[in-house]
Amino acid sequence: MNNDRLTGLHDRPSFMTLINRQCEQSINTGSTLAVVLLDINCFRKVNVAFGYRAGDEVLNVVGRLLGEAGRKRDLMSRIGDDQFAMILPGVMNVGHAVLAASKLLRLLEAPIVVRDQQIRLSATVGIAVCPQHGRNGDVLLAQAEEAIRIARDDGVPYAVAQRERLSRTSEDFDLEFGLQTAVSAGELELYYQPKLHIRDKVPVGAEALMRWNSSMRGDVPATEFIPAAEKSGAIIGMTQWAINTALRQSQEWPARWGTLGVAVNLSARVLNDPTLVELLTGSLGIWEAEARSLTLEVTESSAMASPDVSFELFRAIRQLGAHVSLDDFGTGYSSLAYFRDIPADELKLDQSFVTDMVRNQSNLHIARLVIDLAHSFDMTVVAEGVENAATYRLLAKLGCDHAQGYFVARPMRQEQYVQWLEQYRGLSENGAVLRGRAKRRDTG
Ligand code: C2E
Ligand code: CA
Ligand code: CA
Repeated sequence: MNNDRLTGLHDRPSFMTLINRQCEQSINTGSTLAVVLLDINCFRKVNVAFGYRAGDEVLNVVGRLLGEAGRKRDLMSRIGDDQFAMILPGVMNVGHAVLAASKLLRLLEAPIVVRDQQIRLSATVGIAVCPQHGRNGDVLLAQAEEAIRIARDDGVPYAVAQRERLSRTSEDFDLEFGLQTAVSAGELELYYQPKLHIRDKVPVGAEALMRWNSSMRGDVPATEFIPAAEKSGAIIGMTQWAINTALRQSQEWPARWGTLGVAVNLSARVLNDPTLVELLTGSLGIWEAEARSLTLEVTESSAMASPDVSFELFRAIRQLGAHVSLDDFGTGYSSLAYFRDIPADELKLDQSFVTDMVRNQSNLHIARLVIDLAHSFDMTVVAEGVENAATYRLLAKLGCDHAQGYFVARPMRQEQYVQWLEQYRGLSENGAVLRGRAKRRDTG
């Protein structure tokens, strides 16, 4: 990380790295992040009136005041001659950022004493929040700058970015552009997250989750690039790539646990692709994979968007011998009348019910309902987002079939997954894989 020589704070390049990383984290964890941008008004006058040395000292003091206004975990930078930025991770809401901004402005009201001279500053602050106003550093910074302009126009000391995120910002276009070449540039990778048979505690397969390491932007979260790929249509080529890669790599998995399943996600956009079934048939042939080990996950809501089209596809998939899984189940409000007719083999109980079901009674009830409902239609139920032993035990009690989640393992690269399968001997209370050699019986 680079520091600004004058103030010791992060400089602009460091700030951009930090803000992008923090945005990703905030999106992944569903938390809110604020950027408070401070621009000193007419700073040039200070330089002219008191000299550059004094100007530098003033900037130094402002840097210190930033530290006083923020919390320990906040990140302070000087990103322009007279421009400072604070990153506030994990704020409750915009109000929290406004509070920090007001504190900072109050601190700046006191004259700064440099070489026996009292220098009075005024400043303007712009605030922008992730994900509300933008989902990466460039956009958030632009929004905070826009907020500063708004504040100046209105003659007030601070303003919050006003526009909710526009539906198609240049950020989206950038993403979509990069995605066009992601497959051919070899920037995509599949990670595998194991699924366990809950009662027997043995691996039954894995879900393939796409990762994009962009040459332009580094790692981009799936929650960000998948929607962009859906919009631009790039998802079609990416899905073809995912199906082929998953079938090829799953052939390399060790045979210890019998034939393991592999699940690939299909987004809504792909369901209308008339070549999908052909592609599946071709790929299964090329990689000599057993159709019964392939599952295609489709979210309940995209399946229900046009049931006629998706049900026909599901039937074709099952005719090949592959399986259909309804992903994020419970969030799509499919009516029970439809449910009877869905040609699916598996339900994935959505994370939102699973993660806190130990403490949340109503989620527990929903989980029980979904599991019983699925079983009465001969469907397998996978709980996703299983994060601890208590949840695992509760799911076992409810008769849920398979578990997937951080408690079992995080999504991992192919090589790590192969290793994981080789070393797996069961789960300990904290979800750690019990490793070591299999017990030897021939001790005599
Ligand atoms: P999803 O299909 O519901 O995938 C599960 C997501 O939950 C994954 O996020 C996974 O890393 C995360 N997860 C797994 N266990 C836990 C847990 O215990 N706790 C919590 N909080 N999260 C857990 P990821 O990989 O970021 O993917 C996000 C979404 O992006 C996926 O949701 C899926 O909708 C989409 N996606 C990912 N890969 C693909 C793909 O190859 N094709 C398509 N069409 N969509 C994909
Ligand atoms: Ca999925
Ligand atoms: Ca899911």
